[in-house]
Amino acid sequence: MGTAGDGKPNGKSIRIPPRSQPPEGFEKILPTLKKFQDKMQTLESKEVNPSRPKHELYWDIHRVDHQKSRYIYSLYFQRKLISQPLYIWLVKHKFVNGELIAKWRKRGYENLCCLQCIGETVCVCRVPKSVRKANEDFRCVKCGCRGCASSD
Ligand SMILES: [Zn+2]
Ligand SMILES: [Zn+2]
Repeated sequence: MGTAGDGKPNGKSIRIPPRSQPPEGFEKILPTLKKFQDKMQTLESKEVNPSRPKHELYWDIHRVDHQKSRYIYSLYFQRKLISQPLYIWLVKHKFVNGELIAKWRKRGYENLCCLQCIGETVCVCRVPKSVRKANEDFRCVKCGCRGCASSD
């Protein structure tokens, strides 16, 4: 701790919930989590370009959030580099989207972009590219997904 500064909160530090000591291994992934957090904050504070539709800003934020969950998913389920208590702690404290990660473990949902796209109406981005009409610029309106079927 104790980085140089004027003592004012800069809003960029990851908030660790009080009285919840992170499990072992958290220190190792903290720098990467911080990078994601910083990226997200930059996007959120970015001046909105009026010529750009507002939902596109959400796409950017969603992309970073997705990458963050993917990072933890890979560390825990694929590379087995973090412990179960740490994974559970990260989900519980919303560092990652546990529900989305649970979907990635299911057949056919390995690349799912977000939970919105499998809501009441299933988004076109779930349709395999081979079935969908070829459209280079396709992006789903909800999250900006370019296609997330497992066969894509
Ligand atoms: Zn999608
Ligand atoms: Zn989506």
